[in-house]
Amino acid sequence: MPRFLLSEHNENDGAIRGEESHHIAKVHRYKVGDALDVIGSARIFSATITEITPDAVFVKLNKELPSVEPGLEVTLYQGLLKGEKQELIIQKAVELGVKRIVPVVCTRSIVNLDAKKAMERTTRWQRIAQEASKQSGRASVPIVDKPVPLSYALHSDSAELKLMAYEGSRTSLKSILQSSINVRTVSLLIGPEGGFDTREVALAKEANYSIVSLGPRILRAETAPLALLSIVMYELGDMGGL
Ligand code: SAM
Repeated sequence: MPRFLLSEHNENDGAIRGEESHHIAKVHRYKVGDALDVIGSARIFSATITEITPDAVFVKLNKELPSVEPGLEVTLYQGLLKGEKQELIIQKAVELGVKRIVPVVCTRSIVNLDAKKAMERTTRWQRIAQEASKQSGRASVPIVDKPVPLSYALHSDSAELKLMAYEGSRTSLKSILQSSINVRTVSLLIGPEGGFDTREVALAKEANYSIVSLGPRILRAETAPLALLSIVMYELGDMGGL
């Protein structure tokens, strides 16, 4: 069943406004009395439409549904990639359960965005995250930040476990994850198409990142984050079974 984002709600009813309400009334052609699932305050509810006006849909909240939000909070710092690759990573990372995505401008980033373009892209990325969140049944929409320099990214959070994927590393990811089973916050750092330079690796080490290998093959910049996120969500999150 499609899910829609509440604009505001209390424990008994809510309202959906703007593009979402247009989607309900004009695209899906829902009517008063129809059932649908709605998302608000990181919770999912089954609901019934009580009123449809030209710019809003009003619903009665029936029952709270089980949440599929992971307990593990993962932030993905992703070296800025070209157009559709960045969008693919955002969509897939949201399905895999990421909490926040921060595009990072690295030395070898090919993409160069001025402030205006960065804002436009971030708005588009956030919309992709919202659609992926609804499609995958999540109760909250991960935040996609605007691009930041690596130096900012390295010192912008206090995750219990910080992993930088670097193909020059000989450190086993498996051993690090096996000794991190109780962590609840993780930061992942993946490079752009051109990779990290050795200075960036040294800076990450100073910022308490563990520099890990993802195996003997060179993964594409759009493969590596999804592989690492899947492994972490399997070992430490909720993808490894209940
Ligand atoms: N230096 C790479 C090359 O020789 O082609 C280019 C970087 S790779 C396309 C993009 C990013 O994926 C890297 O910066 C790294 O974060 C990650 N990555 C790819 N393969 C990896 C591996 N085997 N181990 C660890 N990280 C890897």
